Parts: sequence; structure tokens; C-alpha cells
Amino acid sequence: MKDETRQHLALGLTSIRHNHHQTVASNVIQLTLKFVNVCFIEEPETQRWILIDTALSRQEKKIIDCARYLFGNRAPEAIILTHGHFDHIGSALPLSHHWQVPLYASDLELPYLTGSRAYPPANAEAGGGTISRLSPLFSRGPYNFNGVLSPLPEDGTVPGLATWRWLQTPGHTPGHISLFREYDRSLIAGDAFVSVQQESLRRVFLQRPQLSGPPRYFTQDWEHAFESIKKLAMLSPSVAATGHGPPIGGPGLTDGLKSMLAHFYSSNTPYAP
Ligand SMILES: [Zn+2]
Repeated sequence: MKDETRQHLALGLTSIRHNHHQTVASNVIQLTLKFVNVCFIEEPETQRWILIDTALSRQEKKIIDCARYLFGNRAPEAIILTHGHFDHIGSALPLSHHWQVPLYASDLELPYLTGSRAYPPANAEAGGGTISRLSPLFSRGPYNFNGVLSPLPEDGTVPGLATWRWLQTPGHTPGHISLFREYDRSLIAGDAFVSVQQESLRRVFLQRPQLSGPPRYFTQDWEHAFESIKKLAMLSPSVAATGHGPPIGGPGLTDGLKSMLAHFYSSNTPYAP
């Protein structure tokens, strides 16, 4: 069986039946495709928008349809990848070709996205859930986006948008990034932390919100992951869109981040229950 076929079979088990979009904050829309989120961010003054992440492969039509519903025929300024895992970059190439727009990622993530390095093997034991056990079937790359991929600007600016900044949040992967809008403290966390624990098939299926550290089976450096969550908590975000799970704000986010940091090594690292 081809790698991709096995992966899709595995992921078929975890499909959430409904794909839907919802508002995270003003001009920030999250679209959930199966168990993964992508985000559309707009600046209405300039009529510019960008896409954050691209979900699994073969999701481009759903993303384009949603974009058309939100923005008519306006193409985005850019597609930004929080990191290079298969469930965030799956539809990146067809979308980049369709809209004729560049992809951006942190320079530290480029080796995984320019054909030179695969992600390390997944940890099937991490967290003890069904998805962790399936995780060795997931693609680890390397992916090759040469010709359409550029490093994000070093000064933290976001191509095409004036009110957002990107910041390094390594740990889950070396070049993982998050995005932040200062004026209303909106955060796009990527997989630095998530709002539905990813290791358990049951939790993923139910999509019941629970703030949790990065998906354990694929997290490369737990100390960096901890520091990154601390860095994001110190921004005092009012609301967060994460790579997996519903948007979360208010005390659920503030208290959730505090308690996650307080119990980080006992409840989030690979061998915690
Ligand atoms: Zn990931």
C-alpha cells in the first residue's frame, strides 16, 4: 500500500463529519477541515487578506470555496505556514498555484519544506491514545516547495498585513511560528498549543475544548515547547485560534494557559497520561 493511501486510511478514522467556518475575532475566520484548522485574516481598510496553513492534502477546493464566500474573487496576498507538518501544508502547492501567491514559513522550517530534511519519526507511545498509535503512518516529508516558498521577513512583519506580527514559537517543530494582533490581542497559535487534545481519537472526534500542549507524537523539543507557550501566555491573548480544536478565549484561555504551564511536564509531555 502506498504511504499516502495508508495515511488517508488512518485519517479517515479520525474524520470529523462537518467542515465549517467560524469567527475567531474581527476579520479572523477559522475554517475546520476534518480535524485541522486554517485561518483567513483580513484587513478591511486595504481589502487585503492572507491564509494561515492549508490543512491536509486535497482540501484546496473547500478552502477556495470558503475564500470565495468570504472575499469574492480577491486572491490572498500570501499563504503563511505555521510549520511544515503534513496536516498544515497538505494543500499548500495547489493553493499557491491557484492564486499565484507565495508561501512563507520561518527560515528555521525551510529544510523540511525544501526537500532537504524529513521530520523525525513520530512517537507512537506519546499520550497513549489511538491517534498517537497511528502517528507512525503519517507523512514526515521532506516536502519540496522550492520556487514558491520564501522565508518570513526577519523583522516580524507579516507579508501583506500591517496589523499582525509573527513570532518564533519553536518546540513542536524547530521553525514553528505563531501570529499576534496587538490591538485586540488576537492570537493564532498554530500547534504551539491546541484546544482539543490530539492524541485521543475520542477527544478529536468529539471536539470538546480542552487546552493542551502541542500534539505529543510529533513534538520535537519539550523545553522549547514549554518556553513558547510561556511566551504566548505573556502576550495575554484575548482569544486564540489553534491548529486543532475550536477558538478559545476569556477565562478558558487565560486560566487554561496558566494551568497548562503549571502542570506542563506532568500532563503534556510524551509519557504523561
Ligand atoms: Zn503539527
